[in-house]
This record gives sequence, structure tokens and C-alpha cells, in this order.
Amino acid sequence: MTDVERVGVLGAGTMGHGIAQVAAMAGHPVRLFDPGEGAAQAGLRRIRANLDKGVELGKVEAHVREAALERLTVATSAAEAVGDASLVIEAAPERMELKRELLQAVEREVAPDTLLATNTSSLSVDGIAEGLEDPGRVLGLHFFNPVHIMALVEVVHGPRTRPEGTDRGVAFARGLGKEPIVVRDTPGFASSRLGVALGLEAIRMVEEEVASPADIDRAMTLGYRHPMGPLRLTDLVGLDVRLGIAEYLHRTLDGETGSERFRPPDLLREMVARGDLGKKTGQGFYDWETDG
Ligand code: NAD
Repeated sequence: MTDVERVGVLGAGTMGHGIAQVAAMAGHPVRLFDPGEGAAQAGLRRIRANLDKGVELGKVEAHVREAALERLTVATSAAEAVGDASLVIEAAPERMELKRELLQAVEREVAPDTLLATNTSSLSVDGIAEGLEDPGRVLGLHFFNPVHIMALVEVVHGPRTRPEGTDRGVAFARGLGKEPIVVRDTPGFASSRLGVALGLEAIRMVEEEVASPADIDRAMTLGYRHPMGPLRLTDLVGLDVRLGIAEYLHRTLDGETGSERFRPPDLLREMVARGDLGKKTGQGFYDWETDG
């Protein structure tokens, strides 16, 4: 059972609006703030559209939609959004300095026991907590896109995160109907590290002509019941995005050890250099114009 009541969500983009939606649907009063011109209102419109669609498809009851919308308000400042929140979740752009400054400003406005969570997908949670008076109150709550559909939440604890903060994060995620997993603050957490490892090995197998991309994907969809093969997934995520993550994991996890685990394969670099970035450019491991 969660002890979290009011939630402040900072950033109303792809992730922020989704997090605000699921928190409001679970019964939390939510204040949403975004400094971008019209961004918070746009986030609210996306929530309304999601809920309308849910009702239309029979997945959300009309009274749940109404109650969720009543619990949601747009704040005109970060201070207003977080004032009396017991949990603040930041979903601002993926920049360390920005997130640090944001949480430092938030800390000045909230009660001593307010939990501060970051939805970062790759940055160090402990790094984001740097400079706070109480870094022990910071944890990662890593949601997946689209938030209202994806069940997983990675609850990321840094070396200084208080254990009760991690427990509160787990209880909160469960209360949203999500499936939390607890992960130590390490590069790529659990999901990206495993997902990228599989993707890179699949690309090496294409390089070595082990099988065609479609057959390599079928090895995982049919042989291991993955909903999607690693190469098709790489096309959907974007080869440039995956290359960026692989470079980061190679730098941080392989580091000085000489390990090649996360070294981006030459083929991945060549495809990115050619502009074959996957679905968004029409060409990746699949030709999305014809057989995607
Ligand atoms: P986005 O660009 O869609 O939204 C970010 C929003 O933050 C924008 O609306 C922007 O105006 C706002 N913003 C800028 N400065 C701010 C500030 N100081 N305070 C509050 N809001 C501010 O980005 P996104 O995809 O929603 O990503 C947000 C975070 O979630 C990032 O850390 C990202 O790595 C992480 N994440 C993204 C995904 C994904 O699939 N998009 C998945 C998991 C985690």
C-alpha cells in the first residue's frame, strides 16, 4: 500500500503526460508543470485523448476518466507543482545539468520526507542527486513508453538512496498497476543493458552472415517467444539511438577492462553513417517502404 498522496510531475512531454495520466487514474491528485510554451496544456490534451480512446475501446470506464481528469491540474511553476507533493517525478529532457538544477530547486520547496524521482533512461541517478542537501531521497522511477500501456517500471536505487525510499517507489509503482523491478544504479539499468546486448549480437550475426535479419529475428520470436526480434526492434528504436546507447555502455561498462561486450559493430556504424536509421528513414535492417 503506497503512502504517496499528491504527485508533482515536471515535464509534460512523451513521458511526463503518461506518468501524470497513470498517477491520476490510480487516485493521486497530480499537478503537472512544463516550462515549454503550451506544453503542459498539450500534455493534458494528450491525456484526454488517451482516456477518450480507452473509454471508446471499453478499456477505461467513463467514471474513471472523469475522476482522473478532475485530479489533474496544470501548475504555472515548478514550485506550485511540487509544493505539497509527497512524490515528485521529473520527466525533463535527458541532460544531467538540467535535471540536477531542477531537483535542487525542487528540494527547496518540498517537505523533508518528499521523495524525488527521476525518469532518466540512461543517466546516473546518483549523479542527478549530486548537490542536493539530502541525496538519500532521490531514486529512479524509469517508466516505459507508452506509459499507460507498458507494465514495467525500473525502480533504481543509487548508493545513497535510502532503502525506505526504494520501498516507497516500489509500492507507488504497484499502486499504479505496474510491475516494478529493483535495479542498482548502473549504466543501462537492467532493461537497456540486456536489450542492447541482444541487439548488438544480432547485428554481429548479420555481419558474419549467420542468417538473414528476418531469420535471426524469427529465432527469437519463434524460439524464445519474444514479441519482436532484436533487429526489427532496433529499426523501430532507431539505429542512431541504439548506437548512442551502445557507445555509452561500451565507455562505462567495458571501460578500461578491454571488454568488447558493448563495442558497436562496424555494420551499425556504417548504416548510421549512410543514414539508414530504421523505420523513421524507411531503411534499416528491413526495407520499411516495401516489407516493413
Ligand atoms: P520530451 O522531449 O517529450 O519531453 C520533455 C519535456 O520536458 C518537454 O515538454 C520540455 O518542455 C520539458 N522541460 C524542459 N525543461 C524543463 C524543466 N526545467 N522542468 C520541467 N520540464 C522541462 O522527452 P521525453 O521523451 O518525455 O523524455 C523525458 C525523460 O524521460 C528523459 O529523461 C528521457 O530519457 C526519459 N525517458 C524517455 C523515454 C521515451 O521513450 N521517450 C522512455 C523512458 C524514459
